[in-house]
Amino acid sequence: MRIEQSPEFQIHLQNLRHKEPLYLETIYNVGNGHLGVRDSNPLQGNNLDYIGSPGLFVNGFFDYNDVSYGEKYTGYPENDQVINRLCDPRYIRIKIADEDSATDHFQVDNIDKNLDMQTGLLHEIFSVTTPENRNFNLVIESFASLSKQNVYGIKYSIIPTNFDEEVEIIKVHDYINQQTHQQNEDVRVNQSVGQMQLDFIHDNGQPSYLVTTFRSQQGLILTYQAGENKLPDPPIEYFMDEDRHYGYHSKYFAKRGSQKEFSFLFAVGDIHPLVNAQMYSDQYVSALDNYIRDTTFRSELMASAQVWQTFWLHSDVVIDGDPAIQQSLRFNLFELNQSAGRDEYTSIPAKGLTGNGYGGHFFWDTEIFMMPFFSYTQPKLAKKLLMFRYHTLQIAKEQASEFGLKKGAMYAWRTINGYESSSYWLAGMAQFHINADIAFSVEQYYTITGDEEFLKKYGYEIILETARFWMQYGNFAEINGKQHFVINKVTGPDEYSALVDNNYYTNVMAQFNLRLAVKYATQFSNDDILSQLNVSGKEIDQMKEAADLMYLPFDKEKNIKIQYQDFEQLPRMDISKVDQSKFPLLLHYHPLMLYRYQVNKQADTIMADILFPLGNPIEELKADYEFYEPITTHDSSLSKAMYAIAASRVGKHRQSYDFFSQAVKTDLMNSHHNTQNGIHAGSLGAAWMGVVYGFAGIVNNAKHFSLEPKLPSAWNSIKFKLRLHGNECLFTIYQDEVQIELMSGKGIEVYVYNKRVKVEPENSKMVCEY
Ligand code: BGC
Repeated sequence: MRIEQSPEFQIHLQNLRHKEPLYLETIYNVGNGHLGVRDSNPLQGNNLDYIGSPGLFVNGFFDYNDVSYGEKYTGYPENDQVINRLCDPRYIRIKIADEDSATDHFQVDNIDKNLDMQTGLLHEIFSVTTPENRNFNLVIESFASLSKQNVYGIKYSIIPTNFDEEVEIIKVHDYINQQTHQQNEDVRVNQSVGQMQLDFIHDNGQPSYLVTTFRSQQGLILTYQAGENKLPDPPIEYFMDEDRHYGYHSKYFAKRGSQKEFSFLFAVGDIHPLVNAQMYSDQYVSALDNYIRDTTFRSELMASAQVWQTFWLHSDVVIDGDPAIQQSLRFNLFELNQSAGRDEYTSIPAKGLTGNGYGGHFFWDTEIFMMPFFSYTQPKLAKKLLMFRYHTLQIAKEQASEFGLKKGAMYAWRTINGYESSSYWLAGMAQFHINADIAFSVEQYYTITGDEEFLKKYGYEIILETARFWMQYGNFAEINGKQHFVINKVTGPDEYSALVDNNYYTNVMAQFNLRLAVKYATQFSNDDILSQLNVSGKEIDQMKEAADLMYLPFDKEKNIKIQYQDFEQLPRMDISKVDQSKFPLLLHYHPLMLYRYQVNKQADTIMADILFPLGNPIEELKADYEFYEPITTHDSSLSKAMYAIAASRVGKHRQSYDFFSQAVKTDLMNSHHNTQNGIHAGSLGAAWMGVVYGFAGIVNNAKHFSLEPKLPSAWNSIKFKLRLHGNECLFTIYQDEVQIELMSGKGIEVYVYNKRVKVEPENSKMVCEY
């Protein structure tokens, strides 16, 4: 296979507006859902004379840190989980004559960087100058393999420009907890680091390390091999120093203009319980070694590039008429694919695998903002992400019981291993909507794929146990003389209010969750599942009653849904009068100050409008939009794409486009000024929703799949594929016409503005004007 670079798939340094080193480290990360490597200064290592925040992140590999509270009440989490920042595999030490990059400060300048999103290859050129003015070009190629997720490859080329000297390259990773310059007061950035130990696994001809964590008792093995050089000159040799640190080095006489290549393949192991990792380290090393033995940097790169090609074949979104948005959107899809855990025991951290912001935790971001992309384009991967929730269901049940509930599951608002990890419970654990978000996502996956086996074996249990949670947490009560089911003391998605009664979004999601539990109990009434899960007719009747009587605060006069019961009593904050330097508000005001106002960090009630588009009269949507938009700061990166969808639905096309174009560029434009701490994974998925739910106007309920496109006026067309019940369809949407082509599958019915269109193998392409 030849790798050809198409210009529209490149992220080229010259075209980026920002060039700060830490921002570039994030943007040029490479990852594959198991591991992620920041694009650090390759000479930094643990030497803080170089500015950077390097690191290798392994999905699910974390340690605990104590959380200290002034007043610690019963049930507060004892500790916080934090993803470990392991040593940087990019690190290389270079000695030229008597100068040494580990002790002398070499000046490293970025000459060129290019991320080829089509193949996942990062290609970089640095110009490096020593204190004694020796200069060489350092070319680095690296990738995280998508075909073997344990593998990371890196190749260095050294080209002296003004000297003829002896050069030595040394590759030793003799520390584990990567130090960084990331000092920050931002609450969203995690300062704590895990406590890890590094043990060199006895000499087996290549460097192998066992990394163990003190408190979470996890173990991980890392090993790497130097690539076989076709030309024996210069040889890369394995060595052991006096501290029994194993590594590689190579020494040769470098002539100006000459080029020498050194390649390495790393195998980064899976996570094991510490005891196993210690006991079986030799076996694990040889299993890992199989991934990198008898192969080359190039053949692994090719195999991985092929998987990327398949990804783009099914998941690309092509926008004709807006190159900047096209590039950003592709970057978003690329990063999403790099971030998603694929082993059923991990999900997608809010910062992907590009930083330890938010502790590396999984939130509702996965289910609500990222799962739509995966369910529609890579259903197998989507299923694995849901399986993470299934595998942690027992923990969620344990949490509900410890909390004092008789039944049900209480999923953690933020977590790596399933246990709650939010130390600020008001805007954390109290976001109980996560339970309904997960159930919603199960149903969405099922609606899209028709995967009944999943629903019966795993999905229904999640739906049922989360529905049970609502029955336990909420209660029947009378409001204005009428019987209702109420859910009090919760925090909705908007984190500028907390611990409220009857948050509209939470209640409507809980209602949906309960209705799903009822619907499937009826559907599965002849199955064993119900008896296995101890479901009684009485329980289902109560769920039905609660759903039917769910209190959904609504202001009839204003025709709006009310964010929560007493929201209208609060004064509105005029955010246009707030000094620009005070945004995001969360970094400048005491939370309680914000809770006292009608001010939103992010879409909240509007989220309900987006997730439940049917049965909502357009006038009501408009009223909601006009009420909430002026008080929304979009301080969360999850917000703007949602407003883009809402604006598109209510016919505010200019605003929709503006919100979308800002949302889609969140990371490439660094619009939240914190991309240096990691990408905004939820926002990446939200941007995909912006195109597909917003401009293409798709709605998918169990009965119908429909489109109501509203293309931005500057665009000629958008093109994307979706997989619906095993049918892959290519949608090409023009200003006044939709083409639907069945690429594989038995055929499917689609509605375009209520017009029924059927594509089948014998009639695979349909055109529909609108
Ligand atoms: C948002 C949450 C989100 C979290 C992680 C917060 O700023 O308010 O909705 O889940 O970030 O992305």
